[in-house]
Amino acid sequence: MNFPIFLDYHSTTPVDPRVFEFMSPYFTGKFGNASSTHTFGYEADSVVKYARNTIAGLIGAMPEEIYFTSGATESINMVHSGIAMAYRSKGNKVISSAIEHSASYESLRNLERYGYNIVFLPVYSDGLVDINLLRKEIDSGTILVSIMTANNEVGTIQDIKEIGNICKEHNILFHTDAAQAVGKIRFNVNENNTDLVSFTAHKIYGPKGIGGLFIKNGKRKINLEPVFYGGGQEKGLRPGTLNIPGIAGFGKAAEIIASEMDTETVRIKDLRDQLYCSIKNNVPDVYLNGSETNRLYNNLNVSLEGIRSEVLISSIREIAFSSGAACSSGSTKPSRILTAIGIPEHLAKSSIRFGLGRFTTKEEVDYTIIKLINTVTELRKYSSAYITKD
Ligand SMILES: *Cc1c(COP(=O)(O)O)cnc(C)c1O
Repeated sequence: MNFPIFLDYHSTTPVDPRVFEFMSPYFTGKFGNASSTHTFGYEADSVVKYARNTIAGLIGAMPEEIYFTSGATESINMVHSGIAMAYRSKGNKVISSAIEHSASYESLRNLERYGYNIVFLPVYSDGLVDINLLRKEIDSGTILVSIMTANNEVGTIQDIKEIGNICKEHNILFHTDAAQAVGKIRFNVNENNTDLVSFTAHKIYGPKGIGGLFIKNGKRKINLEPVFYGGGQEKGLRPGTLNIPGIAGFGKAAEIIASEMDTETVRIKDLRDQLYCSIKNNVPDVYLNGSETNRLYNNLNVSLEGIRSEVLISSIREIAFSSGAACSSGSTKPSRILTAIGIPEHLAKSSIRFGLGRFTTKEEVDYTIIKLINTVTELRKYSSAYITKD
């Protein structure tokens, strides 16, 4: 077994060696600019076509509906700003959820500064948005619904099909942040009635700094005001020289995950369930955060009463796991997501998140189980927060 053990696959994933191998020629020999009209350009352009095809295939889209960006954060910001600007005369209301990733949450908070009315729908304790409230909130001034598909902290998978249906019924544009969903669950842009979808390569064993945006090419034309201006790449929506090695890697990562998703899901879910059951059966006062069932197969988020997550993390240096979202770790405030699903502050501050993935082994999970049980038992002996409870 190699240390440290990586159990933080929601924050990022290693590049699959097959992806790395596929990408590498595009840094050196095949270094062309996809816009050039010579051999080097054609070579680069052809791998862009390949990647657009495989990524489109992964989500049931047409290749011309895929736009390359630097990642999900950029895609999400392009949608929020682009729709807000283009549809300003129609209205100023955007409906979202209380458990969005900060990429979406902060981008919408920025729109508030420009006079937009953002509604962050509350969620139930399992993390699911209240669909009836969504129906109630939609009005003639609503220009966009933006709700994530799968949550990065507690793994909740929304009923995206139903949300998409409601938006379609009311003729409202629907965007979803699917960074944690694409490649992990069967995600089809048309079945889900999505108009705009954001996703990223580094959560599916592709490189960092490359992502995608799906924009539906339907009967109704979607107007998206560009955020950037320049050389007209990506139909003028995302100008700038294309990141060819990144795009090549993203395409390969999409191809691999599409073919291995089913077997990968079963194996990893099994390991995740072993991890959860062993903790639950051997440590008292453990609480699962989020849904038992509507959950990403690789996610586990639990609160261990009486133990601050940062203390646990620093006591187990050889295992990489996190407290809440990577972005909010290190801050002293409890996670915005856990607060939104109704977890009391003391338990939110005792929450840890495991994300399992393609390279997680049974050996690693077994080691983690024993280490966690022993460390929690030991730490609780000295925890006044835990003793005062009994
Ligand atoms: C990782 C992640 C993002 C951000 O993606 P980047 O490509 O790192 O910008 C957005 N939303 C969710 C749900 C994520 O998990």
